[in-house]
Amino acid sequence: MRKVDFIVSADAILTANSQQPFIEKGAVAVQGSKIVGVETQGKILQQYESKKIFSLGDSLLTPGLINTHAHLPMSLLRGIANDLSLDEWLTKHIFPKERQNCSKEFVRLGTELALSELLLSGVTTVCDMYFFEDDIAEVCEEMGMRSVLGQSLFSGEAPDQASFEEGFHRAERFISRWKGHELVSPALAPHAPYSVDPDQFRRCAELAKDSSVLLMSHILETKTEDSHFQKRYGMSVTEMLEDSGCFEVPFLMAHFVWPNDSDLKRVTKNVAIAHCPQSNLKLADGFCPVQRLHDCELTVGLGTDGPASNNDFDFFAEIQTAALIQKAITENPESLKANKVFEMATLDGAKALALQDKVGSLQVGKCADIIAISRDGLHHWPHHDVYAEFTYATKASDVTHVWVNGELLVENKKLTRVDQKDLRTRVKNFSIR
Ligand SMILES: [Zn+2]
Repeated sequence: MRKVDFIVSADAILTANSQQPFIEKGAVAVQGSKIVGVETQGKILQQYESKKIFSLGDSLLTPGLINTHAHLPMSLLRGIANDLSLDEWLTKHIFPKERQNCSKEFVRLGTELALSELLLSGVTTVCDMYFFEDDIAEVCEEMGMRSVLGQSLFSGEAPDQASFEEGFHRAERFISRWKGHELVSPALAPHAPYSVDPDQFRRCAELAKDSSVLLMSHILETKTEDSHFQKRYGMSVTEMLEDSGCFEVPFLMAHFVWPNDSDLKRVTKNVAIAHCPQSNLKLADGFCPVQRLHDCELTVGLGTDGPASNNDFDFFAEIQTAALIQKAITENPESLKANKVFEMATLDGAKALALQDKVGSLQVGKCADIIAISRDGLHHWPHHDVYAEFTYATKASDVTHVWVNGELLVENKKLTRVDQKDLRTRVKNFSIR
């Protein structure tokens, strides 16, 4: 019998591993940060022993969920401007608020609030792009969250940069500080083609290539973005991205709501998409053609975007919205079947962040990022189809346990490293001008 740090067992496991996708009465054995066994309870208990056994009974174990696009500190701007178009929301409300309020303290508290909410909804990896990314990384490290963090860059002034040049050097320092960290993967995030110049995109692509980090940006979020860009630069957004080398490196495009046929022909297999259905709906951006992207064999993960345009980090709400709107816009109920949406929330999210060797499925050798979902609620009964149960019926509040890298961060629906009452008080007392 091999001794392990802990064993977690449950009536059902969805692994996201195509070799063994579903295990009835299954268990996962974990040693250190790694999964060492995923099998039926009988087989695991024959091979492994542990002083710590979580026998969760009628629960569903899945890989931790992967949020491929967020702006964590914007949790403090939740509810500040609503029912507006992206342009008006961003330029008249969000950018001015950020200029007034965005500081290291703002970013740290907002990140703590965001990560707490994400963990409670079963998210174990989050991809962020914002300002003062060093501070965000420190909070992610303290709270034990796996993260891919892109220092945001703008063509001119931003809350943490007087110029693009200053921001670029900040990004270089950020990448060299965090490169190789166990939980935090540094990345580079030129904000969008309407806020970063083409030659600056080229420099970002070069830096991403030289330092082997993920490049990410907001691309074709609104209907008018491409025509405005063409008027200004005489080429389309994807022509600029191709020309500047962005498609030669792993490149995560948030939104990609309005690609045309030539955009879809131009993108390469290096590209993945962070689909943020609730943010797209709230800002009336349009509908991302996820089924078409899948037909082009592109990887699509799910994202919440910032909570100021959502307005929460409820990842199961995102999962359900993604599934339902795709069926409606394609007028095809077979679009985004329940098992595919489960994959988008787990393994495809990991692929989009270039983390598929580490996370995204419950498999021996991968990191122990695991969540447990209680099936006690009447909305889980009866258990006819476990993928349909996960995609269409599960709520964030059903998540009872969350492990990241083998660390228990949520136990019986309570955060283990954060006092929620104290956090609420600190958020309440933080003044937003
Ligand atoms: Zn965004």
